[in-house]
Amino acid sequence: MEPKNLDHFKNKLLEMKADLQEESSSTMQEMKVEGSLFPDPNDRATLENDRGIVLRIRDRERKLLTKVEEALDRVEEGTFGLCERCEEVIGRARLDIRPVTTFCINCKEEMEASENEKKIL
Ligand SMILES: [Zn+2]
Repeated sequence: MEPKNLDHFKNKLLEMKADLQEESSSTMQEMKVEGSLFPDPNDRATLENDRGIVLRIRDRERKLLTKVEEALDRVEEGTFGLCERCEEVIGRARLDIRPVTTFCINCKEEMEASENEKKIL
């Protein structure tokens, strides 16, 4: 990939990383504040439920953050934008939508197709 394009994706990934880190710290703070706001047991039950949802969101954010960090490593290594499976260049449009992807569209579709086959069988 050209250095110019690589920079574009590097910046994009760094932005994603900053956003994710900011979001996770604000979720933690909200949880603390809410905990002290609802002394009523019923409210607390609702809060526990909310907390479950929050934790699931946090879990997803954490996984995405790992993917973003791995993508940044690939930028440094010079393997960013290459498919892990066929080692072909991943399309620019696909990377723009999903910069953390590690498979080209063909491999992704083949893999999904075989997943679906397994489900049918
Ligand atoms: Zn591929």
